[in-house]
Amino acid sequence: MLLVAAHYLLDVTWGLRAAVGLLLATVVLRWGIASIRPLQAGAKTYEPVDVVEPDGVPVYSCKECGTQVVLLRRGSDKAPRHCGEAMAFTVVPES
Ligand SMILES: [Zn+2]
Repeated sequence: MLLVAAHYLLDVTWGLRAAVGLLLATVVLRWGIASIRPLQAGAKTYEPVDVVEPDGVPVYSCKECGTQVVLLRRGSDKAPRHCGEAMAFTVVPES
């Protein structure tokens, strides 16, 4: 009787371990796929158009390192990224 109970408990633990293992594998896999998704190239929203700002030069700035990029042609409304973050758009007056 004791042996049967021990055998049953062992089966339960193995079943539990397998279930927890499967659950963990699913969570890790989902997290991995979700973390890769932002790295994929964003779809273009339209054909590139020249950027004309009457008040100055269209500039994207990185908030982390200070890199500035002048925007000449726009192919998407999404901001370019630098240091892992979206760059901030400003129009710098021409001097
Ligand atoms: Zn940067």
